[in-house]
Amino acid sequence: MELWREILVDKAKQNRDQTVIDRPNEDELRKLTEIGRLIATSLSTDEAFEEFARLAKSLVPHDRLALAALTPDFNHVDSVFVSGIEVDQPNASQRVIIPHGRIKHQMFVDFQQYHAVDDELNELTELVDDEKYRIAAGLRSVLSTPLIWNGEPQGVMTLRSLDPKAFGLRQRMLANEIGRQIAGSVAMARQANELRRLAEEQVAIAEIGRIVSSTLVIEEVLASFVEVVRGLVPFDRVVVTAFDEDLNEVTDVLVDGLSLEQETIGISYPLPESKIQQNVILNQQTLVANNSVYQELAARSVAEVQRYNIGSRSLLMTPLVWQGRTVGTLNLRSKDPQAYGEHQRELAEQIAAQIAGAIATSKQYALLKKESVERERLSKQNDTIAEIGRIVSSTFRLQDVYSQFAEKARKLIPFDRIVIATLNPDCTIATDVLVEGEGTKNTVGKQFPVPGNVRELALRNHDPLILNEPDYSKEILPKYPLERDQMSAGLRSVMIVPLVSRGVVVGTIHFRSRENSPYNQETASVAAQIGSQIAGAVAASEQFESLRRSEKLLRTQVTVFETSADSINILRPDGSIESVNDAYLKETGYTREEALNQGPGFLRPPGQDAEYEEAWDTLSSGRSWFGVLKSVRKNGETYPVEHSVTPVFDDDGEIVRFVGIRRDVSDRLQAEEDRAARMRLDVENRELAEIARQREEFFTSVSHELRTPLTATMSFADILSRDRQGTLTGLQLEHLDVIKRNSRSLNELVEDMLDFSRLGTDRLKLDRSDVEVHALVESVVESMEPTIRAKSQQVEVVSAPVPVWINADSGRITQVISNLMANSSKYSESGSNIRVELELINDYAHIKVVDQGVGISETEQDEIFTPFFRSKREDVQIQPGTGLGLAISKTLIELHDGQIQVSSIENEGSTFAVILPVTSHK
Ligand code: ADP
Repeated sequence: MELWREILVDKAKQNRDQTVIDRPNEDELRKLTEIGRLIATSLSTDEAFEEFARLAKSLVPHDRLALAALTPDFNHVDSVFVSGIEVDQPNASQRVIIPHGRIKHQMFVDFQQYHAVDDELNELTELVDDEKYRIAAGLRSVLSTPLIWNGEPQGVMTLRSLDPKAFGLRQRMLANEIGRQIAGSVAMARQANELRRLAEEQVAIAEIGRIVSSTLVIEEVLASFVEVVRGLVPFDRVVVTAFDEDLNEVTDVLVDGLSLEQETIGISYPLPESKIQQNVILNQQTLVANNSVYQELAARSVAEVQRYNIGSRSLLMTPLVWQGRTVGTLNLRSKDPQAYGEHQRELAEQIAAQIAGAIATSKQYALLKKESVERERLSKQNDTIAEIGRIVSSTFRLQDVYSQFAEKARKLIPFDRIVIATLNPDCTIATDVLVEGEGTKNTVGKQFPVPGNVRELALRNHDPLILNEPDYSKEILPKYPLERDQMSAGLRSVMIVPLVSRGVVVGTIHFRSRENSPYNQETASVAAQIGSQIAGAVAASEQFESLRRSEKLLRTQVTVFETSADSINILRPDGSIESVNDAYLKETGYTREEALNQGPGFLRPPGQDAEYEEAWDTLSSGRSWFGVLKSVRKNGETYPVEHSVTPVFDDDGEIVRFVGIRRDVSDRLQAEEDRAARMRLDVENRELAEIARQREEFFTSVSHELRTPLTATMSFADILSRDRQGTLTGLQLEHLDVIKRNSRSLNELVEDMLDFSRLGTDRLKLDRSDVEVHALVESVVESMEPTIRAKSQQVEVVSAPVPVWINADSGRITQVISNLMANSSKYSESGSNIRVELELINDYAHIKVVDQGVGISETEQDEIFTPFFRSKREDVQIQPGTGLGLAISKTLIELHDGQIQVSSIENEGSTFAVILPVTSHK
């Protein structure tokens, strides 16, 4: 067994590592959707399964397909549908046991596919008997896919093939996808199976009643009894014992199956000394002992250890109780250490109820040798009861057989009117389902509140209630006014039988009679037997009807849930995840297996505890919660999610689930943020534009006011300095030069200020034309001559070997180069050299102005292009200047799609380079 676990874990690991690679392609997706639609829209599941098998085969080629549903105890699977190659198999049964700890069981625990080929299958036969028949049919590979629905295993889809290589990774992935489509349907089939099985069990139990009552010598019917019991509860040895009246001695009246060395049939021995068995006999409680519990019991009992030695591993011992007395026991033993659960205990108790009477009467009659007439009557009565069981178990639509039932019941119990009603789960509302006979009107389908109705008296304990005259008139009529109608219709007695199925009252039968005292202990006991025959069927029929109703609703809801574009998750009251839809998985990046059963903090990013707790407080107080919370995806990304979570309540107002709808709103929030930022920027830009406009207006008017007197000053200084009359002294002429020089630089300053004021407005416009750079540089050098000569500096021009054309505003480029040369002159010693170089590099004109001046420190190099920046150096500060020249130059060059760069070493000199694109057509 350990070996298989290893293989499985290994395989599960392989699956995990590899399934990520593949997704279904378009054609496959179409088929998968078709399967989903087919299964969801067709209620006639048999036809749907045929069509499903055809589609499944075209997706994953195979030779045999089997669908099986898990039984509620997880110990078996029931076959739901099989197609493909026939397997020749003796004793093939619809139901297959899944031994604990073995393959399929593990598959349902781990939710992993199981795949095996050839040799592995041979190994499998050691554990699963049936496997050898499949190998014999030539099937060489198997792929079992667990069907998971709502986070719970429902069954298994098993594909087999003659080809050992049939199920590769892609096929396994597709099988998984198919499984997801049909799991819901199998879940439905599973519930229907369960109901059908319960009904069949009721038939079998009724059959037992018939068998044992047909004779007084139980040994005569041993074989058929054993066969029917075997269909209900599995066993390897069955024993029925009978006690003497003083509970001193036990006799084995029936033994079948596994045999002991010395058989015990017919042998009498003292009551077993084991306390556990005495508990069965004295307290009339069924004993279930599996595995280790059974082992302990066997170790303490000499008799039991013999049974252990022949292989028994589980024991189910049920007392046979007749008229309050323990008359014997029904002992079932199995080699399966997990054979007996709650359901088997219930069935055994029902079988015991059927045979207790026979065991008791057979002993009594043997003793008293009663008349055969009475025997006959009792036997007929038992027959009729069994017949009733068969009738009601033959269909889920009980309304079809109610009148047949009433006819049979009339043979056993006298009545003039019979009413069967079903009860809702909390027994507050009764619905009439059968009304026959005299009295008040037909009320089939009508509902009545239970409180205030006489039937409430019968629900207190589970026994029939007899209300005969005169008690009926005296005590019941005053308390229950509704009963007056019955009285006035002449019905004077009533017997109310509660219908109890699995410990729950599911309905009532009212027998009413015109007689004064028709009902007594005997009729009550017969009525109780009838009640027990039909209670199970009533419950199953109710369940079946509501299943059919909810099935359709469920299918619609499931489709809505699955196809919703919004993520949906359903949480249990403790906040753990019960189910999620595909959109949720896509949003979060987790697989369904990873997401299910996670707690409330699953997607909570660190630091969001307070926000989550607040939402949770609102929810757990029963209110809905809407809002945006941060979530974190599997890949670690944090994103905002708009939540809408609503609690779901049961009838008592308790929270049973939370339904959460979530939407990733990062795109929406981002868009909102962007819009706000854009609006802020727009406002800022408008404000800035306004400031720039005002500034420009101011500068324009100031410079205009300055220029007029300045122009006048310059012109008159010019006229004066020409000295037409020759009357000016040398000193006066020198003074005039100073006036002219200062006026010129004042004029330049005004020009700079005008330019600066235009920075950032659209008033700085270029007047472009094709310009040859050598010519331009020559003219700049020429105009700068006086300034440079004044400091006894020399200018050297280094030309490029070819003409260099740019498309530019020649006035503006002249302004920039002049500015650079003026700076070089200003910030260099008298007598130093200035070089203007012209180069053509990769379609760019490089115009460099190189000096041997004070240079610029590295930190200051970053700042010299900002308006008003001037170096802190003293030798710079003493020179006139505004700190605007380079800022304006930079803007002008950039308007030309060019660049201006500086490189400099302090106290050694600077190089300014203007780089401009050349025109292509020259
Ligand atoms: P201004 O020359 O009117 O101060 P600029 O914008 O033309 O204004 O120059 C800004 C600053 O850059 C100058 O104050 C000076 O500190 C530095 N600078 C510019 N050119 C040179 C150069 N050729 N040599 C050294 N420093 C320079």
